[in-house]
Parts: sequence; structure tokens; C-alpha cells
Amino acid sequence: MSKSANGGFLESVSRNFDKAAPHTGLHKGLLAQIKACNSVYQMRFPVRIGSEYQVIEAYRVQHSHHRLPTKGGIRYSQKVNQEEVMALATLMTYKCAIVDVPFGGAKGGVKISPREYTTAQLQKITRRYTTELIRKNFIGPGIDVPAPDYGTGSREMAWILDTYLTFKGGEIDAAGCVTGKPVNQSGIRGRTEATGRGVFYGIREACSHKDDMAKLGLTVGTEGKTMAIQGLGNVGYHTGIISQEEGGVKIIAVAEYEGAIYSEDGLDIKKLLAHRKKTGSILDFPGAKNMKQRKDILELKCDILVPAALENQIRKDNASKVKAKIIAEAANGPITADAEEVLLKKGIMIIPDMYINAGGVTVSYFEWLKNLSHMRFGRMEKRFNHNTYRNLVALVERMTGKTVGAKERDFLTRGADEIDLVRSGLEETMITSYDQIRSTMKRKKAVTDLRSAAFVSALNKIGSDYESLGIFP
Ligand code: NAD
Repeated sequence: MSKSANGGFLESVSRNFDKAAPHTGLHKGLLAQIKACNSVYQMRFPVRIGSEYQVIEAYRVQHSHHRLPTKGGIRYSQKVNQEEVMALATLMTYKCAIVDVPFGGAKGGVKISPREYTTAQLQKITRRYTTELIRKNFIGPGIDVPAPDYGTGSREMAWILDTYLTFKGGEIDAAGCVTGKPVNQSGIRGRTEATGRGVFYGIREACSHKDDMAKLGLTVGTEGKTMAIQGLGNVGYHTGIISQEEGGVKIIAVAEYEGAIYSEDGLDIKKLLAHRKKTGSILDFPGAKNMKQRKDILELKCDILVPAALENQIRKDNASKVKAKIIAEAANGPITADAEEVLLKKGIMIIPDMYINAGGVTVSYFEWLKNLSHMRFGRMEKRFNHNTYRNLVALVERMTGKTVGAKERDFLTRGADEIDLVRSGLEETMITSYDQIRSTMKRKKAVTDLRSAAFVSALNKIGSDYESLGIFP
């Protein structure tokens, strides 16, 4: 497909792969297999909208079958095309490898602008898309498991599950055919916020290394660091709110579809969302200034820039104007390969998409496991742990002759709920994966940026999977 179709997104992913591949020690044939998209399903189906029929263009790409099921979100956007879905599916394979989630990568896309349809029409399109996937055996708990992405959320996932159940209701693990579902429909607590929460944990981890921060002229930790966010959707909003509330980060600018706003004193993200709900826009938010153009946010002076909208936002033409010290790629592919060269030369730290936004697929994995086990996390051990901790506190009280206050006692003796376990699993994943990437970079002198290190780490894991299958010696 031509570069113009999608600004060279797939080409950028491919160039990043080629840059890292020589540092893996894997042989050429194996690298070629890892790079290729295994299955591409392009479909066109009719949906009656009002009194007319519309032919909808849609895709599902399974990039790698080295582990099954494959996994990846479904995007609803007018910009969807085959090359974009292939690039996103490819990133999913590497992302899963980086965070040790045992899936191959996949992605889906439906070429529609959700704003132009009613809820009933979106439901019709989603159900028909799911039916197409079922017909071609492109969905199932052991085959391919979709999730939310740009333009979709738990509502669409519930429609997908319901359609799947209509055809395959007798399958005992049917609920695991899709993740990101509402909690009361076999979903998991903490999935909606998972990607944004993971972005925060990843940023916090990156900011915890004194020598790395010193190189950027920054202090250790997130407290007081300034942040600008492009896109206040699921990922951008949760990144903002959690960074603000748990990391003491000051959000100085936000951009959305309708424009961008700025305040040196910081923006209250919860109030901003309420303002947008009330007025239909982030603009004219009390205490903030409207910026001239929404894209100006990318060139703003700040410590951390979080592109959380779409790919190809920082390109060769605007890369030299970026003034952030750290870019956390919450969106997939926001920086082109050309732009990356410019940014790295400027000494900017880029925390790559395939690591920093992997919180979503990590918690999706937990949801899938919950669906296969047919039981909520924490159900077996919560009460047992509570009783054990209570006995321990009682023992300490007896031994010291002192009494623990009621509030402290509650805190010390609480058994973990599902949400506690999900957050703990996510935090552990983001910390461990960052350490793996960073130590790959430290070990290999020729690998000097986090994206290449992430690629090397991912490719070696996938390569070792293929080798253990005995396909490649
Ligand atoms: P979303 O649809 O919830 O939100 C995206 C927001 O970006 C929308 O509000 C949209 O109006 C805004 N936007 C679009 N173009 C913009 C522009 N030029 N400037 C400013 N704002 C703009 O989507 P999301 O789920 O938050 O996904 C955002 C990105 O994160 C995508 O790249 C997606 O692939 C990636 N991602 C999402 C998840 C997830 O769990 N949802 C997981 C990993 C990665």
C-alpha cells in the first residue's frame, strides 16, 4: 500500500523493526517470519441505515500465530485502512511479548465515523461485523479475542459478546471471546482505566532512575512535573487523572478534536471533563487559555508530552519544534520513524507505545483468565487473608500490650479485592517490563534508545517461542 494511505505507519513500524533486528542474534528466516502478517481478512458488508443501504469496509488482521489466541482492539474511525490495521496488529505482537502476555498480535478496524451514527445503528454495524468474524472463524476464546480501541468501548464489547453467544452459546468459555466488557457482563474491574493507569506506572518508572533524569535535566520522580496531553478519550483521560492524583503531575495543556487549552497553574482534569460534557467542548475552560490550533500542543514546552489520540502526529515537519523532555507514546505510532531520528538527536526520551500503552492488553489478559476460570479474582483468598492478618494484629497487641486503632486495623487486615489484585498485577508488569527494556539497553552498547531496546527484547522472546516449536533451528 502507498505511503500516502496512512502516512507510512506500517513503514515506520517496519523501519523500527529493521533497526533493532541486527542486535537480536536471530537468523534472517526467523526474523522474516516474525515480521510478516499471518492473516489479513478484508470484508465489505451491507447495513441498512435509515432508508438506505451502506456498504461498510472493515478488517481483522492476525499478525502472529506463534501464540494463540491472537489479541487486539477494534478501531472505529473514518481513517481505517488495511495498512493501518496491519501496523496496529504488528505492534500488538511485540506489545504482548514485552509484557509477557501469552498472545499473538491482532487488530480490527471498521471504516466509520461513530459520531455520524445513532447508538442503534452502531449496534447494528457491530453485530454484523462480529457475525462476519464468526463466519470466517476469526473470533473465539482460543482463536482471536478483540478488545476496545479508538472509537470503541465496553458498550461495543458487550454487543460483540452477545452476538457471539447467539451463535456459540453452548461454548463453556464463550465469555472469553472478547475483553473490555462491562463488569456486569463478564468484564473485570479496572479494565477501563487500565491503559491510562499503565501509562502512569510506566512514566513513574522511567522517572525513577536518577542518571536518566539527570541527562534530561530533570529531578527524580513525577511530583511537580508538567504534562501536556493530546486526546482526552479513554487513554488520555485516565493517564491525566491518575498522573494528577497519584503522581502529583501538573497537567498544563490538553488538546481535543475541537481545540487545545493551556494553563500554567495546571488544569483539573475531572472538572475539565465535566466542562466538556456540559458545553460540548474543552475550549473556554475557566482559568485556562485557548491555544491557536490544537496541534500547537505538540510544540509546547513541558516535561512530559502524552500523545493519546492517533498515529503520525509527530512527523519530520514538526519534530524539530517539539520541546518536551519525555514523550510517552500512549497512542499507537504517534511518532514516525523520520521524526524519531530528529527527536533522539535532540536528546528527548521516547517511551515507546509497545511498552507504555500495554496496560490495556495486560488487564485484558487478566479478564480472559477470569473468564476461563469462571471466578472473580480474590474470591477464594480474601476472607482467609483477612482472618490471618487479624490474628497477626491480635498477636502483636497481646505481645506489646498496645491496641491498634480501628482505622489502622481495617487497613492492616483487609484482604485483597479484584480491583486491588488487578492494579497490583498491572503495576508489577509495568515495572518488570521497564526494567527488562532498560537493562537490554544498558547491556547492548549499540542499542541507544528505548524503542530499539523494546524491539530487541520482544523479538528475542518471540524468536525463542518459534525455536521451541521446532520450526526454526
Ligand atoms: P478514544 O476514542 O477513547 O479517544 C481518543 C480521543 O482523541 C477522542 O476523544 C478524539 O476526539 C481525540 N482526538 C482525535 N484526533 C485528535 C487530534 N488530532 N487532536 C486532539 N485530540 C484528538 O480512543 P482511546 O481508546 O483513548 O485510544 C487512543 C489511542 O490509544 C489510540 O492510538 C489507541 O490505539 C491507543 N490505545 C488504546 C487502548 C485502549 O485500551 N483503549 C490500548 C492501547 C492503545
